[in-house]
Amino acid sequence: MLEAAPATASEPKEVTVVLFSDAGQRIKPVRVARVVKTEEEWRKQLSGNAFEITRHADTEIAYSGKYWNLHDKGIYRCICCDNALFDSATKFESGTGWPSFWAPIAAENVTEIRDTTFGMARTAIACTECDAHLGHVFDDGPKPTHLRYCMNSASLRFVKQS
Ligand SMILES: [Zn+2]
Repeated sequence: MLEAAPATASEPKEVTVVLFSDAGQRIKPVRVARVVKTEEEWRKQLSGNAFEITRHADTEIAYSGKYWNLHDKGIYRCICCDNALFDSATKFESGTGWPSFWAPIAAENVTEIRDTTFGMARTAIACTECDAHLGHVFDDGPKPTHLRYCMNSASLRFVKQS
């Protein structure tokens, strides 16, 4: 049996995100339909790890992902829907074992969600376009924002700048 989809009547069917080319060029803000798929559709599309992390807010084991130690130039897109999320120009060495950024590629492209699981008050970060869980944001990051977007590698797809 599939799990019943939660009611989404209060959630917008259209969202605004900023399009970026694979070279990292900002193109323009666009209105797009939110990507909504069933559990089964996501499960088919994603690896088991990416499915549990993006659709059920799991967290990958520190230092286990493929991007925490990546220093190449490029952009990081959503593994679920290809929405542009982060630019390598804002990536920094956090020492946590998770890819960390001090800003998203565009504020519109990520959504902050209050998260009180595990008895902690945290701010979860989701993809605006498909609602994928990406990680959390903390206020102990470097200049200029002092934010630390602590992401799961499995939620991201890196596009290297050629
Ligand atoms: Zn997405």
